[in-house]
Amino acid sequence: MKQVALVTGASRGIGRAIAVELAREGWDVCINYIQHHQAAEEAAHAVRALGRRAAVVQADVADGSAVAEMVREAERDLGPVSLVVNNAGIAGQAQFQDITDEMWNRYLAVNLGGARNTIKAVLPRMISEKAGCIVNISSIWGLRGASCEVAYACTKAGIIALTRSLAAELGPSQIRVNCVAPGVINTDMVQVLGQETLRDLAGQTPLGRLGTPEDIAHAVAFLASDKASFITGQVLTADGGFVV
Ligand code: NAP
Repeated sequence: MKQVALVTGASRGIGRAIAVELAREGWDVCINYIQHHQAAEEAAHAVRALGRRAAVVQADVADGSAVAEMVREAERDLGPVSLVVNNAGIAGQAQFQDITDEMWNRYLAVNLGGARNTIKAVLPRMISEKAGCIVNISSIWGLRGASCEVAYACTKAGIIALTRSLAAELGPSQIRVNCVAPGVINTDMVQVLGQETLRDLAGQTPLGRLGTPEDIAHAVAFLASDKASFITGQVLTADGGFVV
């Protein structure tokens, strides 16, 4: 059967690595991005270099109608989407009292609302076909608290609740829902922390290093594969032992 995956936020970082790893595993991939068109095209090029088909679709995952249109476009180009990886996300540090309504609402709309939007868009077909797989990207900060990360941590804890609840609801339709909780992964997202803090975080990690986007891509590819066919509702932490 033809396998088509939609990966949100796949132009850079973890999402790009997921798209490439899925292509290696035989998936055709729709690459979503919001801003960096050239980077998204380069990710698509990497997918095609592995012999798989790729589509590139711009959409703000926080916008439900844009996401519905993205899924229509992906399905026109590649065929029915049978795997969604909800990876697009934003992060930033602020003390709780400095979090504005605008920041709070945007974090929720992108990190949690984005996953809801893509799932809503692909679900009717998955339910009618009684098949499908959803992998959400949470974070260790959704598992434990983090100073100056309240808004972000709340969205990532929400992703875990979304994963577990949907797994229970969609199991009878043979749709598996899991999530990966990455530790500190060396991407653009964490560069704002500065090299000293990143060295500290690597030092606090039992395996003694930051994660790579590929570390997360491998976990996602496993959960998406038939090897995980009896696994649903789970949080797979890939963090070098940071949270044990
Ligand atoms: P990143 O390097 O900042 O890349 C973010 C990606 O998301 C980009 O492709 C970006 O597209 C896309 N994006 C951002 N907002 C979007 C929106 N509204 N609609 C569609 N796409 C959007 O981030 P990353 O480190 O790879 O993180 C990926 C995911 O892993 C996020 O959910 C993040 O919370 C999670 N995570 C990361 C870490 C870490 O340490 N890096 C740890 C735990 C969890 P453009 O290129 O077009 O801007």
